[in-house]
Amino acid sequence: MDRKSDARLSLFTPGPVSISREASHGLGRSGLHHRSDEFRRLMSDLSGHLKAAFLTTGDVVTLTSSGTGAMEAALANLLSSGDKALVAVSGKFSRRWAEICEAYGVDVTRIEIAPGKSPEPESVTSALEAAPAIGAVLLTHCETSTGSLSDLEAICDAIHDLERRRGSEILIIADCIASLCVDELRVDAWGIDCAVSASQKGLLSHPGLAFLSLGKRALERVGTTTSSRYYFDLRKYLKPCVERSRERPEYPPDTPFTPAIPLVSAVEASLAHLLDLGMESVWRANRSGASAIRLLVEAAGFKPVADRQASGVVAFWSGGVDAGRIAETLEEDHGIIIAGGQGDLEGSILRVSPIGKGPGELRRFAGAFSDVLAKMGRTLDMDAIETEFDRLLEGCSIWE
Ligand SMILES: *Cc1c(COP(=O)(O)O)cnc(C)c1O
Repeated sequence: MDRKSDARLSLFTPGPVSISREASHGLGRSGLHHRSDEFRRLMSDLSGHLKAAFLTTGDVVTLTSSGTGAMEAALANLLSSGDKALVAVSGKFSRRWAEICEAYGVDVTRIEIAPGKSPEPESVTSALEAAPAIGAVLLTHCETSTGSLSDLEAICDAIHDLERRRGSEILIIADCIASLCVDELRVDAWGIDCAVSASQKGLLSHPGLAFLSLGKRALERVGTTTSSRYYFDLRKYLKPCVERSRERPEYPPDTPFTPAIPLVSAVEASLAHLLDLGMESVWRANRSGASAIRLLVEAAGFKPVADRQASGVVAFWSGGVDAGRIAETLEEDHGIIIAGGQGDLEGSILRVSPIGKGPGELRRFAGAFSDVLAKMGRTLDMDAIETEFDRLLEGCSIWE
C-alpha cells in the first residue's frame, strides 16, 4: 500500500497535528447556514471558549484563513504605514512579522537572534530605548522553526515598565499560533494587546481558521489605523458584533462573510474538550510530551536546537546523520511524519511535535526512532532512559 495515501499516517509535525476525535466529530455537523440562529449560537460558544483559552476578557475575532492571515490582519488593523515597530527575529516565523511590516510600509527595526536563542527582555527594552519613536513590538511566543520559547511574561513586564517610565504607549502583538493550548499563555495577566493563533496546532483541529484577541488599546487602534484593508478589516467583524449585541445580547458575532462553517464546529468541539480537561492540564501534558521527545533525542546523542524549549516542537541538530534519511525512513517504515528544517536550517535539523500525543503514540515514536537510527548505525539506549521516559509519558496520559 502506498504510505503517502494512508490516512492513518501519524503526524508528529508542528502543524497540522493529528486531529482530535472531537474535532472530527464536530466537522460532521456541517449542514448549518451561517445566518441561522444555530450557527450564531455555535459562533458565540466558540468566541467564549477562545476567550477562556487566551485567558482574556477582551474581544476575540475568528477569521477564515490560516494563521498568517491573522498576523496580516493584526498588522493591517493596528499599525499604519510610517509607524515604527520592533521585531525580534529568531527564525522563519518571527521573520514573517518583519516581512508583513514591510508589505504595509511599517518601518521595522530588527533584533537579530541566533537560531535556538530567544529574545531577552533587556535586549528588547534596550532596542526600544535606543529608538523612542517605536510604538509597537512584534513577538513570537513559540518560534516553530527552532522550537524555542520566548519568555513572553518577562518581556511584556519589561516593556510595560519602560512604557510607564517614558509615558507613551508601546503596543504588544504576539504570534501565539504554536503556543495557544500548548504552552502557558495569559493574555490579560501578561498585558498582550493582541495575540494571534490558528486552528491546526494546539487546538488539535483542521487548518483553516485563525483568531485574534484584542485588548482595549488594540480595539481603539482598529478604528484609527489608516492602512488599506478590506477582507481583513476588523471593523467589519467587530461592528456587527456591537450592533447585534444591542439587539440580542445572547448572540455576539455575525460574520461579515461566509465563514468556513464546518471548521467552526470542528474547532468549537475540540476546544470545548480542551477546556474541560483544563488549560493547566493541557499545558502540562504537552510539556511532558516535549520533555519525553527531548529525552529520546539527547539519549541518541543529538543536540536540541532550543535553549528554552517550547512544548510545541522539539528541534535537534542531526549532526553527522543524514536528516532527510531519518525522516524518510520514519515515514516509509513506520508511517510517522516529522518535519525537517526550513530556510537556512534545511538539511541540518529535524523537528518533532508532541502536541496532543499520549503515551501510546510517544512509545510508538520511540520504538520507530530507535529502529531507524539503528539502521543508520546509531544506538538509542532505551534501557538507560526507561524510568524517566515512563515518568514523562504519565504526564501526557490526558491524551488517551
Ligand atoms: C504555523 C505557524 C505560523 C503559520 O501559520 P499558517 O497557518 O501556516 O499561516 C506562524 N507562526 C508560527 C509560530 C507558527 O507555528
